Amino acid sequence: MCPEPAGAAALAVVLDQLETLSRFDRPDTATQAEQAAEAARGLGDATLELRARLVQADLARRRGDVAGAGRTAQEVQRWATEHGARHLLSRSHFLLAAVLQELGDLSLALEHAVLAVELLDPDGPPAQRIDHLARLADCLGLQGDRGAGERYAEVLLLAEELGDVDRQLLVLNNHAYVETVAGRYDSALALSTRLQALAAAHGVPLHVGRLDTIARALIGLGRLAEAEAALAPGAAREALDASPDGDAGADFLLTLAEVQRRRGSLARARQTLEECVRRCDRHGLTSIRVRARREQAELHAAAGDFRAAFTEHKTYCQEALDLQSAQRDARARALQAMHETTEARRQTRRYRELSLRDPLTGLYNRRHVDDEFPRLLERAAGEGVGVAVALLDLDHFKQVNDRWSHDVGDQVLRAVAALLEATASAAGVAHPGTFAARMGGEEFLLVLVGGDLAGAVRRLEGLRQAVSAHPWGELADGLAVTVSIGVTGAVGRPASTPAELLSRADEHLYGAKTGGRDRVVSDLG
Ligand code: GH3
Ligand code: MG
Ligand code: MG
Repeated sequence: MCPEPAGAAALAVVLDQLETLSRFDRPDTATQAEQAAEAARGLGDATLELRARLVQADLARRRGDVAGAGRTAQEVQRWATEHGARHLLSRSHFLLAAVLQELGDLSLALEHAVLAVELLDPDGPPAQRIDHLARLADCLGLQGDRGAGERYAEVLLLAEELGDVDRQLLVLNNHAYVETVAGRYDSALALSTRLQALAAAHGVPLHVGRLDTIARALIGLGRLAEAEAALAPGAAREALDASPDGDAGADFLLTLAEVQRRRGSLARARQTLEECVRRCDRHGLTSIRVRARREQAELHAAAGDFRAAFTEHKTYCQEALDLQSAQRDARARALQAMHETTEARRQTRRYRELSLRDPLTGLYNRRHVDDEFPRLLERAAGEGVGVAVALLDLDHFKQVNDRWSHDVGDQVLRAVAALLEATASAAGVAHPGTFAARMGGEEFLLVLVGGDLAGAVRRLEGLRQAVSAHPWGELADGLAVTVSIGVTGAVGRPASTPAELLSRADEHLYGAKTGGRDRVVSDLG
């Protein structure tokens, strides 16, 4: 199928947009990504299709399919590596950084984040550059790297220059969050204040996740009244339902309940917590539900009901432990699932490679010859390059087995194979395509690409002498080994067939045997 350039160019623009949108949750992004993937398939453009697949995988990750997103990212990465598709490579690293961050492997996440930045086209959409740099800052920040602050500042500047308010809010929020995690509440608050001011200046409502970040900074500083005031806009049902974190605001409600309790508003705290638990149950939010139990216990204690507090606390402890191990299992499974695909691929490659090799000598086997030889001849004929084909057969090899042992025979075969391999790689330096193979038993093939027949015959004469001069006596007392070689050459069109060449080489080999063995016979005599 021939790609239609205009269609591909238009689709590339759509994908640029989708890639910058995938950072945010817009309801129609999934449909657009599906359509883009479909269109790219129609154009037969694999790069564009895989770009769309990555957008889809990123959306799947947000919906909770972290392992699935990781697998897609790895598959795309493999394809991109094989095809030198730099942008795809950068995007797959970007996604893998997010996946590994969620799976708790921060150091691996950081490696991917670094590559996502390094491989990004500097002339690409600036919004994408901001996204990649921001993720790198997130990975550094969550690892406790103090340099993250500087990174966030740089990214923020880029977002300001671009006039991209959404990204400015994103960077400020993430930076503030990282600071609360590190316990630097002053800095977190300063960033939160900027976050609020910027949102207000542009009339952008702060969603509950961001209000939560602001409140955590204030709670950390013991400024509870301000924390409650900061959370107030999020308590409305619409705000809770619109939470982009897939938790329907349950996390937010938990923070609010804590603040209300600590401020002594126990009745309101109880109401807030009940709503939080309802949302946890409705949306299956196990981890927040468990944390809600701890808050429930605190609430009972604050109300003086220590018996209820104790019971609730015990339940909390047990569930927290169960959850911890369940989460560990889930994380381990997800990492394992990602790892398995890499491992399986490595194995498949190894097996394929193994199936083309002779196990005794490690040389290519007959199957490789059948696969590769015809192609090689076609290519050489097309390029007008000469090919020399040599068949080698050890002399009186049966006697080696009979007089010493089969084991000594095997060692001889390995040693001869090594000499053959050395000749092939010496010749192959100048002429790629050259290879050695074991055809079976004590019979070998050497295909030399490039150069003329006389040169090939000289190399084979050298090999013959090397075999005969090898210190065989070290292997077994009195052992001597020689080889007979038949060589033929081919050049130009029409390309000779493997069968023609092998049969001519075999005739020469027969000539070498009947002529007294330990010699090279070729088209030249
Ligand atoms: P010629 O000089 O005419 O080639 O005599 P030859 O003895 O080398 O030829 P022949 O074909 O009669 O014998 C080949 C022997 O190679 C027979 C077989 O036992 C031995 N052989 C084949 N494969 C292997 C192997 O993998 N290991 C060992 N040790 N011997 C093998
Ligand atoms: Mg033989
Ligand atoms: Mg033989």
